[in-house]
Amino acid sequence: MSGILFVISGPSGAGKGSICAGLPLDGIAEISVSMTTRQPRPGEIEGKSYYFVSREAFHAKIEQDGFYEYAEVYGEYYGTPKAPVIERLAADKDVILEIDTQGAKQIKDTCPDGVLIFILPPSFSELRKRIERRGSESPEKIEHRLSKVQSEIAMIPRYDYCVVNQKLTTAIRDVRAIMRAEHIMRLGQLTQMIGLYDKKDMRRACALRVAENAAVIADWLAD
Ligand code: 5GP
Repeated sequence: MSGILFVISGPSGAGKGSICAGLPLDGIAEISVSMTTRQPRPGEIEGKSYYFVSREAFHAKIEQDGFYEYAEVYGEYYGTPKAPVIERLAADKDVILEIDTQGAKQIKDTCPDGVLIFILPPSFSELRKRIERRGSESPEKIEHRLSKVQSEIAMIPRYDYCVVNQKLTTAIRDVRAIMRAEHIMRLGQLTQMIGLYDKKDMRRACALRVAENAAVIADWLAD
């Protein structure tokens, strides 16, 4: 069995980066480092935060079929280098992609076994506060990012899970629970395949804290 490809998306400022940074990877999961044409923010590290490249270099990589997926997001290019993802999955390691909704759609098309997780901030005003507090974007860029939120939210039904990031530690626990549940489910499918258990013993572990999160999700979708 190979590793599982997890995709984490959500609006800018939803806290995807903080969630990924807080996940205990335990040597069995790795976070993919994307390539981008955007300028580094203060504190970002080449090869760790992103591979920062020119538009020419990015397009050369597209020509070489070097991306697992790529997209233009907020006016810049972002892509997942293909080779490391394939190598890690083949080595039984999970891979986590922190990518936008266009990239997630491409992943679902090319890798239907991938697990898509959407991170939702608790409200629009909280989202705005978080982006402004980050202080890394100009007011125009902030407005541009915020203007995309509703179209990003509209993609939630394509995702397997939605986690509301009200409190970071809880959101990290939820994502971790989803990752574990997906492994348990696949192990279940495997045992079913080899006939060890009767079907009735199969249970899909549900990691969503539905009651707590459903109202928030409904609010966002209704807007
Ligand atoms: P930021 O500029 O805030 O780091 O990222 C902007 C957006 O690009 C975020 O939604 C982030 O998830 C997305 N992104 C980062 N890397 C990739 C990638 O490799 N592919 C795609 N499709 N989106 C990415």
